[in-house]
Amino acid sequence: MTKKERFQFVIDWFEKHAPNAETELMYDNPYQLLVAVILSAQCTDKRVNMTTPAIFEKYPDIPALSKATFDDLFPLIRSISYPNNKTKHLIGMANMVMEDFNGEIPETVPELVKLPGVGRKTANVITSVVHQQPNMAVDTHVFRVAARIGLTTNAKTPLQTELQLIKMIPEEKIYIAHHWLILHGRYICVARSPKCGECGLRPACKYYQQLIKAY
Ligand code: SF4
Repeated sequence: MTKKERFQFVIDWFEKHAPNAETELMYDNPYQLLVAVILSAQCTDKRVNMTTPAIFEKYPDIPALSKATFDDLFPLIRSISYPNNKTKHLIGMANMVMEDFNGEIPETVPELVKLPGVGRKTANVITSVVHQQPNMAVDTHVFRVAARIGLTTNAKTPLQTELQLIKMIPEEKIYIAHHWLILHGRYICVARSPKCGECGLRPACKYYQQLIKAY
């Protein structure tokens, strides 16, 4: 199977079986998504979703969050990973949005990555989920699944994975392909023991083909 055929098989399979894949973070607007994605670094979406309702109730928008103090916000974030840094990042992010972006959350990756707590992955998530821009956020699941299937070759960094994926996936499908790969990695192609027996991607998967060759 050529790489092009492999991509086509994977895209066709996901389009058929996961046509509405989307983020599992709960949010109602770009502000809430940005807060949730910042909090989700090294943390499960499930735990973030348990944390954010209280934050959004107390700080319903960027102006409110920009006025938060560390001591007020920290207790709401305490139960998730890296609460110190995330508290500082959220307050810093809201202040920068107020001062440098007129209170409006920026809509491009180069602008978003200027915000505290926002790296390339977060910026790609925001721009692809909110604006359907053709940006591929690469987290540990996307990195692993893409390599196992053989969508990427010798990618050593998330950026290499991102560039190899966006080169091959049609532009209008990139924003949803991110969710396909993340959810597949979360529930089927899990890190320790991928559930190949349940996986419809076996005919196109390099890892699986090598596995059966070894027997
Ligand atoms: S066949 Fe196995 S290794 Fe390949 S994508 Fe499916 S679960 Fe992952």
